[in-house]
Amino acid sequence: MPSVLSHAVAALGIGPCFYRPGVPNRVWLAGAVCSMFPDIDVVGFRFGIHYGDFWGHRGFTHSLAFAALLAGTLLVLAFPTGVPNLSRLTLWLYLFLATASHGVLDAMTDGGLGVAFLAPFHNTRYFFPWTPIRVSPIGISRFFSARGLAVVRSELLWVWVPALVLVAVVWFAQSRIRSQATTPP
Ligand SMILES: [Zn+2]
Repeated sequence: MPSVLSHAVAALGIGPCFYRPGVPNRVWLAGAVCSMFPDIDVVGFRFGIHYGDFWGHRGFTHSLAFAALLAGTLLVLAFPTGVPNLSRLTLWLYLFLATASHGVLDAMTDGGLGVAFLAPFHNTRYFFPWTPIRVSPIGISRFFSARGLAVVRSELLWVWVPALVLVAVVWFAQSRIRSQATTPP
């Protein structure tokens, strides 16, 4: 995995594509939580579940089907009456993409097993052909090491910078659209 913070940054990077004035901040918070949630599967190591199993690390919780389920569950439990200025389908789509972005980033790392994108239908593990992100050690103590530094550097370059650029571009485009809409002909 890239470190959990980088997953959250990716979700916040997607956020501006869905931004409308008046949408409450808890929507973006939910997106950040969704983006980190799939790594709940590391708990399975304690119970003897193997990495390559269905419930193993980067297994079902990293699949597209799980992303759809988690987004749907949050929609019902956390946003039962919806949110202002965002349709329920759009809100679901944001939460789905935030969750799915986790597997996408994991599939761009250079270690571990691939991601079971198609679980529960196929348990095949996939990587993208391009894997520029250094895989993050599991566990905080091992993270603070020379290898940890290399991980942070690759995540800044391949996750944080693209997310910030995406945020800047979308904000700029939206503010131009708004100013054109308010400028009299
Ligand atoms: Zn992961």
